[in-house]
Amino acid sequence: MKKIALEEHFISPGLIEYWQPTMTDVPKPIFDKIHAALTDFGDMRLASMDGAGIEKAILSVSGPGVQVEPDAARATAKAAEANDFLANVTSARPDRYLGFAHIALQDPQGAARELERCVRDLGFKGAMINGNSMGAYLDERQFDPFWAKAEELQVPIYLHPADPVQPYASFGSYKELTRATWGWGVETGTHALRMIFGGVFDRFPKALLMLGHLGETLPYLLWRFDSRAKLYGVSLKRQPSEYIKENIAVTVSGMFSAEPLNCAVAALGRSRVMFSADYPFESAAEAGHFMDDVAIDEALREDICWRNAARILNIPMQG
Ligand code: ZN
Repeated sequence: MKKIALEEHFISPGLIEYWQPTMTDVPKPIFDKIHAALTDFGDMRLASMDGAGIEKAILSVSGPGVQVEPDAARATAKAAEANDFLANVTSARPDRYLGFAHIALQDPQGAARELERCVRDLGFKGAMINGNSMGAYLDERQFDPFWAKAEELQVPIYLHPADPVQPYASFGSYKELTRATWGWGVETGTHALRMIFGGVFDRFPKALLMLGHLGETLPYLLWRFDSRAKLYGVSLKRQPSEYIKENIAVTVSGMFSAEPLNCAVAALGRSRVMFSADYPFESAAEAGHFMDDVAIDEALREDICWRNAARILNIPMQG
């Protein structure tokens, strides 16, 4: 079945300095392969998409990008440069490639302006933020101008996993629990919960957050959040689960497994779950085969594969 994929990565020349240090423990041949995939926008990427039935891919910077740049002015300039680079890619193949903006939140007003430029002038579909920005999280009031702009433009902000500011002490010497195994889920789920409990969606009720990995475990925990919010006297306009259902949409990136997919659909509804592969860090073919074969009804498969993304991101599709 045809698909739209939302968490598909690239790297531009100006951002390699941030990406390369995240790959130091990867053997050289694998590094070279991933680097080649991230910098290719031709036959290799298109063949991978074709093999998975991906008709359109929303491309985004492979993290952390300028989220880890200490100099705000440099971060802002490098983000704009990456967005211009991506605009050249998407305008060369508008039938296959769309874009998520790369945004330097170190300057919140500048972030709002760059988001607007990317959406209005470059035709991007929203933005992807790679975790905390130099220790700052998206619930902080300094980012209200950014959320106000995202709400005004009606574009989603995709929160991508990244490392925490400090390694979690509880992980001790278990390095294998960091990153994609468990640490990123804790960090990214926490980041999203900070937005909910910090009232971002009370201030911006039409804002839409996207999470990969079928919601970073949040769909599994709805009842528990509501129950504890009552116990602790949390004062929000809605129950925590309502924000998760109404202000968050999720993708299957890196979670090609029926049990969490069914949980996410049951928790968030059929209209909030979308396909993604996480190219080139996951096999697009494996993602595609999972999505084509998993035991769900055909109307739901169509919703997850492309209908939900087409509606939420306003992408014209035939059929
Ligand atoms: Zn990713």
